Amino acid sequence: MNKRRWMPSLQATAESWPAVAVLDWAFKRFGRRIAIASGFGPEGMVLVDLATRLRSDVRVFTLDTGLFFSETYGLMSEVEQRYGVKIERVQPALTVLEQEAEYGAALWETLPDRCCQLRKIEPLRRKLLTLDAWVAAIRRDQTTDRAHAHKVEWDAKFSLVKINPICDWTSGMVWDYVVSNNVPYNPLHDRGYPSIGCAPCTKPVQIGDDPRSGRWANFSKTECGLHLNRTGETRLNPTEEIRRSESCPQHPLRSNGR
Ligand code: SF4
Repeated sequence: MNKRRWMPSLQATAESWPAVAVLDWAFKRFGRRIAIASGFGPEGMVLVDLATRLRSDVRVFTLDTGLFFSETYGLMSEVEQRYGVKIERVQPALTVLEQEAEYGAALWETLPDRCCQLRKIEPLRRKLLTLDAWVAAIRRDQTTDRAHAHKVEWDAKFSLVKINPICDWTSGMVWDYVVSNNVPYNPLHDRGYPSIGCAPCTKPVQIGDDPRSGRWANFSKTECGLHLNRTGETRLNPTEEIRRSESCPQHPLRSNGR
């Protein structure tokens, strides 16, 4: 997508919008050229639940590394049945066995950044070339890299608009929503896994530990690289681009009495 078309003035305005209003605006703005990226953590489940209340033709994709827990694949099936969406499974160029033949066994134990590049980032780059915008389930308080996320922003790494509707939510808000709305979630969360990725790189954590400390537990790595907005281009400061020509859209769910 051409950056000049993305309406940067909206970035500051959208910060005051609730998640459902951000989604509603984004779906109207980008139509079928927007999709939700989800690894089916509780945040991703909140987005799918909110989005499918707005529209029945929501697009959801996942970067299926072939290394998810069986519980995650089970949850994906449940999502498809409950919400009537067909999850778009984006796969790496190499199967796990082909990767092993080319790079050696268990690349995630030796070069996890390379493994994430092959199994997540390159597939995501391929997928995003087909879209004008993508929706992510990140929260600002998850990592220092995510702390500066905006609800609507230009993704300089992948050259399209990125929508982060719940970036200002806390974990408590996410779980309140999940419980209140009976949203399905990965059963591993009840077994000590607050953050779940590929099975080889995810360990359970102790109560009180950093929720993401079970990810790449033997490495300093904290991100797979999907949400690092780094190309030398800084994000716009919300105060620099205020043009309040668009007011907050009406809360669609509330207006429906839900
Ligand atoms: S999370 Fe682990 S197994 Fe999955 S792509 Fe990254 S390094 Fe590979």
